[in-house]
Amino acid sequence: MNKYIDDFMAAFPFEGLTYDDVTLVTQYADFLPDDASLETQLTSRIKMKIPFISAAMDTVTESEMAIAMALAGGIGVIHKNLEEDEQAAQVAKVKNYLNGLIAKPICFHENDDISFLRSEKRRMGLKFNGFPVLDAEDRLVGMITSSDMRFAPMNAMTLKDVMQKAPITASPETSLKTAYDLMRAAKVGKLPLVDADGHVVGLYSFTDVQRLVENKNPTYNCDEKFRLRVSASVSGGKGDISRMEKLAAAGVDVVVVDSAHGHSQGIMDMTKYIATHYPDIDVIAGNIATGEAAVALAKCGAHAVKVGIGPGSICTTRVVCGVGIPQLTAVYNAAKALRGSGVAVIADGGIKLSGDVPKAIAAGADSVMLGSVLAGTEESPGEKIYSNGRQYVVYRGMGSMAALKNGKGSRARYFQDNEAEDDLVPQGIEGMVPYSGRVKGIMTQFCGGLRASLGYCGARTIAELKETGKFYRVTAAGLREARPHDITITKEAPNYRT
Ligand code: 5GP
Repeated sequence: MNKYIDDFMAAFPFEGLTYDDVTLVTQYADFLPDDASLETQLTSRIKMKIPFISAAMDTVTESEMAIAMALAGGIGVIHKNLEEDEQAAQVAKVKNYLNGLIAKPICFHENDDISFLRSEKRRMGLKFNGFPVLDAEDRLVGMITSSDMRFAPMNAMTLKDVMQKAPITASPETSLKTAYDLMRAAKVGKLPLVDADGHVVGLYSFTDVQRLVENKNPTYNCDEKFRLRVSASVSGGKGDISRMEKLAAAGVDVVVVDSAHGHSQGIMDMTKYIATHYPDIDVIAGNIATGEAAVALAKCGAHAVKVGIGPGSICTTRVVCGVGIPQLTAVYNAAKALRGSGVAVIADGGIKLSGDVPKAIAAGADSVMLGSVLAGTEESPGEKIYSNGRQYVVYRGMGSMAALKNGKGSRARYFQDNEAEDDLVPQGIEGMVPYSGRVKGIMTQFCGGLRASLGYCGARTIAELKETGKFYRVTAAGLREARPHDITITKEAPNYRT
């Protein structure tokens, strides 16, 4: 509980504050920013190395973005404007990206010539050895290793003459860790997985397996099987039950029941449904802006709630509907109501610069969701375009006219499933953001900014900043002072854009 923040917020009854309305107060630090930890709770059960989530938007997160985010230590939410099978396939792509298991290993036959193997390797540009060797019925009969090739007898003609017979194998369901133990004990570089009929259904390579298992402090956000974690969004009501089934089968770790108004029956029903039918999958529900909504979703089994009604850069909900609470106050409302419950709070939307992130955390957020900040990256699915000699990337709201026309997910998010095209009422706009390079570079800047902030605030961890952060209210003059002023900027900084 942060008594200072409680008193501060109580000084603004019936007034909504947002990031630019406050600044964080410096506090004594007995450590250096580099020693601060950015680890946080994504949900009550899942931790992340960094508090960043890429938004469930069709111009932000598909598999490429989700992979980049998980490699950086965060997570991506694959959007729901995709057909169910396509969304599940994208989830599977992320889950399979790092698993160390080669699902379709290159195999040869025992009667293949050695020269054939060499020419095939050259043709495919393969630098490694270690190939399963099959008989005429495609059953595993041997392995070819680098040594077998190097020390092949002069008169050897076929792979049968040089291969290791009766190689060490394992069953198809062998985990990465078991494979690691087996390969170390047997000192083999390749471990074929073989089904009951003797067919090869996968192959572990020790170099990959070792990299994943022995890396004591990986930045990656991985599950217990060393696969990248991934999230995907679904809609409320009954419409997405089969979508949910497919996402679960693809191995999704966390599902976001995503709506413009999370404090509504359909979202609560779906949250309850997932929490009951998929007890191993975490559920995030939203979006909301009040404590009452946060408690209602937590009661339905949500492991985290997503806060944000109208703060997004592409959002027009506040002006089209006159609804929403400025984001800092909304985050505080939800976090205060959930204190002690373990349910995590995600601040979604409105993050412009890295300095907004520690403010969201001091108000009670465990992590932030980013749309515009990531939309300009190489890994975003938005179309890359040129304008006035500069590269941009298309970024649009999920409630924009184009997104509503394009996807069932968008229509469900804005409760317009059955509207005719002419009757659609958008709550978002379409635009473009400057191209901003790779996700890794953006995350370096955001993590660096956040670490420095923890140093300034004397908080070693995100949990500590939630407990001890202090705000001052900023006036219009203070806001002007906070930004670069009285200068013409001649070079763009990697973490500040005008
Ligand atoms: P940003 O990070 O760009 O400020 O905001 C991204 C967030 O805005 C998303 O995660 C989502 O919650 C919200 N959002 C996305 N599209 C729309 C839209 O069309 N209308 C509204 N009201 N919110 C949107």
